[in-house]
Amino acid sequence: MNNIKDKKFTDSYDVIVIGAGPAGLSFACSLVSKNLRVLIVEKSSHKLISDPKPDGRETALTHNSLKILQKLGVWNLIDQTKVSPLREAKVFDGDSESLLNFKANKTSIDALGYLVPNNLIRLALYQKASSSNNITIINDLAVESVNTSPLIAKITLSNGEIIQSKLIVAADSRFSEIRRKMGISSTMKDFSKVMIITRVSHEKSHNQTALECFNYGHTLALLPLNGNISSVVLTVPTDEADEMLNMDEKKFCAQASEGFNGSLGEMKQIGERHSYPLVGVYAQKFRATRFALIGDAAVGMHPVTAHGFNLGLRGQDILALAIIKASENVNDIGSDAVLREFESKQIHLSRLMYFGTNGVVSLFTNDDVIAKKVRKLVLRFADRFPPVKSLITKHLTESKKSNLIPF
Ligand SMILES: Cc1cc2nc3c(=O)[nH]c(=O)nc-3n(C[C@H](O)[C@H](O)[C@H](O)COP(=O)(O)OP(=O)(O)OC[C@H]3O[C@@H](n4cnc5c(N)ncnc54)[C@H](O)[C@@H]3O)c2cc1C
Repeated sequence: MNNIKDKKFTDSYDVIVIGAGPAGLSFACSLVSKNLRVLIVEKSSHKLISDPKPDGRETALTHNSLKILQKLGVWNLIDQTKVSPLREAKVFDGDSESLLNFKANKTSIDALGYLVPNNLIRLALYQKASSSNNITIINDLAVESVNTSPLIAKITLSNGEIIQSKLIVAADSRFSEIRRKMGISSTMKDFSKVMIITRVSHEKSHNQTALECFNYGHTLALLPLNGNISSVVLTVPTDEADEMLNMDEKKFCAQASEGFNGSLGEMKQIGERHSYPLVGVYAQKFRATRFALIGDAAVGMHPVTAHGFNLGLRGQDILALAIIKASENVNDIGSDAVLREFESKQIHLSRLMYFGTNGVVSLFTNDDVIAKKVRKLVLRFADRFPPVKSLITKHLTESKKSNLIPF
């Protein structure tokens, strides 16, 4: 076990990772068994990251993410009975007839994507990283500051200790303090909305179909889990969040059931209600001298397209591959050339996705008359024009195969 507490760190490392969330841990997992010494610094306790509790998030993983997790040897550490395939997705607009429907072709691939409880992904990543000989994890200490020069990079911990490395990678959340301290500005979008999530059981089958209802005033989504169980995701204006969070369970479930036109029958809440304020973040750049940003610290997506962690996984993969290549060629892993390669690929990957998602959210949560008309047209056009739908589906599911048929 490589967790160390109350110990002096006089050593230097090849890579220091700030934050042991899903992005920081998956990046470390990408460097398992490589000839590199990796240190992860996580400010929360060992208990919190080694035994993460359910946080309400059912992370929708794309086919590409699945491949990356398999490559890291992490996928098989996840309890497969808790993985729910997503076979179909329907998008509704208000009370209108407009509908966009995506379906996986049963003859070629079995699902559009896979829903996995976020805490189980974190647990598997932690198990992989903490059992590796070249990775050390420190808990209960925050990184207070980062100092980098063309020759060396250093962090100062909250206990005053200084540790040096060739490269520092910050994965310290969308509200990254380290990003700010490194002088990297970011574009932030506060949606002034809160997402409220809980698990429910219901009478009728969901047929592994996700529902996204852009009702006027709020948004209601259903993520189908195994059995007659779903995750209900309600997005409300911030000033209504407390009322929804504290609402009596019966009333909450009745409203949710009604929101899906009673198609799933009576609902019962079977988990806690969790809430997340919705803020999107896009860093102005993803690198500085001997420093890189990954995960939400680089791009913090609005969850509606379920792409935050999927993007984070791809970003860390790009960075890890660039570092491994440099290391194998006995080049400097923290050089500008390595980080430039990572940054240009990361921009290519994320810019359209981030700003496109924000555009979709703005259109579909804007209830003025013109916006309502435009979104009806958009849905009708996308639904009736198979190439467009196929393109959206491929983009959202990150499946290379063109075997996803528009319904
Ligand atoms: C409601 C909701 C639903 C979502 N659904 C999906 C989905 O379906 N699919 C998908 O792909 N994504 C989804 N996401 C996004 C996904 O959850 C995030 O992208 C992902 O969790 C971000 O991981 P991260 O490691 O970058 O950041 P975080 O999980 O925020 O982790 C950051 C870590 O850094 C630590 N830290 C911070 N500062 C310091 C410091 N100074 N020193 C040391 N440690 C520090 C923190 O303690 C924390 O552990 C969803 C998000 C939300 C909110």
